[in-house]
Amino acid sequence: MSLIKVKNPIVEMDGDEQTRIIWRLIKDKLILPFLDVNLKYYDLGIEYRDKTNDKVSKESAEATLKYGVAVKCATITPDEARVQEFKLKKMWESPNGTIRNVIGGTVFREPIIIPKIPRLVPGWEKPIIIGRHAYGDQYKAADMVIPEDNNKGIVKLVYTSDDGKTNIELPVHQFDGNDDGGIALGMFNTTRSIKGFAHSSFEFALEKGLPLYSTTKNTILKKYDGQYKDIFNDMYEKDYKDKFEAKGIWYEHRLIDDMVAQMLKSKGGFVIAMKNYDGDVQSDVVAQGFGSLGLMSSILISDDGKTFESEAAHGTVTRHYRQHQQGKETSTNSIASIFAWSKGIIQRGKIDGTADVVQFGELLESATIDTVQIDDVMTKDLALILGKTERSSYVTTEEFIEAVAKRLTTCFNKKFP
Ligand code: NAD
Repeated sequence: MSLIKVKNPIVEMDGDEQTRIIWRLIKDKLILPFLDVNLKYYDLGIEYRDKTNDKVSKESAEATLKYGVAVKCATITPDEARVQEFKLKKMWESPNGTIRNVIGGTVFREPIIIPKIPRLVPGWEKPIIIGRHAYGDQYKAADMVIPEDNNKGIVKLVYTSDDGKTNIELPVHQFDGNDDGGIALGMFNTTRSIKGFAHSSFEFALEKGLPLYSTTKNTILKKYDGQYKDIFNDMYEKDYKDKFEAKGIWYEHRLIDDMVAQMLKSKGGFVIAMKNYDGDVQSDVVAQGFGSLGLMSSILISDDGKTFESEAAHGTVTRHYRQHQQGKETSTNSIASIFAWSKGIIQRGKIDGTADVVQFGELLESATIDTVQIDDVMTKDLALILGKTERSSYVTTEEFIEAVAKRLTTCFNKKFP
């Protein structure tokens, strides 16, 4: 068996806890026996991040910009308890945040569908992919409490240009002293960021060959959400309509409430570009609806579409790692982590124009799905969804990856004799 040569490097970002164990197994059993690939390795495990004062996170993001493709293992985002646990010098930022700040772009969450695993929403036969605008709005807002003991006054929204030539002032609310104070919020976005979001959403839908919807509440926020709607519409008419029609797909704007209702009733098979908060909420709704966190993948694509990072949407599965540390067996679902690798490999092959690399990525995906679908080998989370609780209905973390490796080897030898 000869290895498939991958022309350009892939950036590999290692992570923490249970997913770090899975990551190593995937690399050793499902990647390196088949691919001759130059992996630019960055250890984003919490200990090494701390040791390098988190420089390694930034360096890994810069390497992703340079090489265009990265695959990432889940990582710990430190909180107070983690600072204590690992005796960290500082409560370092989430690596995902650091990477997003360097690369920019949009996060798309895509479920992995295995026909025999029932969905909480049984009608969902095809993926529903949520693209979340990961900048501004509620997440960079200024908010305040109007004091209860001095609550007669006005809240205004003011814009003053640095040169003093433009002054816009809008009353938000006159508090009349009889309403026990209150709350207020000012939030913003930038046209540049919304354009980037629109661009990457159109490119992604086109690449997937799926229709695209964008959602806002522009009937209420006529200017704010109206701007999102107009930017998407103008870009579609100008740059994408012909390309979409040639593929038999379309773009439409929907009110968020209409879209969510339609989404629940649908069979799936589309991409929805959502504002930051809506995307945050709805991507969790969709993850639950499709059944398991272990079956949800996440991709970050830069605004110009040239930089790509893929990972599992779940965290480091600490609960299972604690069992592992106690020497107990674990049954952690590695499918989303395997798909982090396969999606990166497919993207690398597409950019490099190497069909065999793309085919290997697709083979890895089908071997993984068929291990569950055909061989009936699965981890505990999936067995539970099928209503099976007896020990014989699921395998361990290691046994699952071993079963995928076995199937992959057979398929590989047939496809690449
Ligand atoms: P988690 O996603 O790791 O686990 C939550 C629960 O979901 C688990 O207890 C388990 O019941 C289930 N689960 C998740 N993935 C599973 C899998 N592959 N197989 C089987 N069951 C699975 O989230 P958490 O416990 O809230 O966070 C643990 C750590 O992960 C935290 O330190 C957090 O900072 C980090 N985190 C990282 C990322 C990321 O790197 N993108 C995302 C979320 C959380």
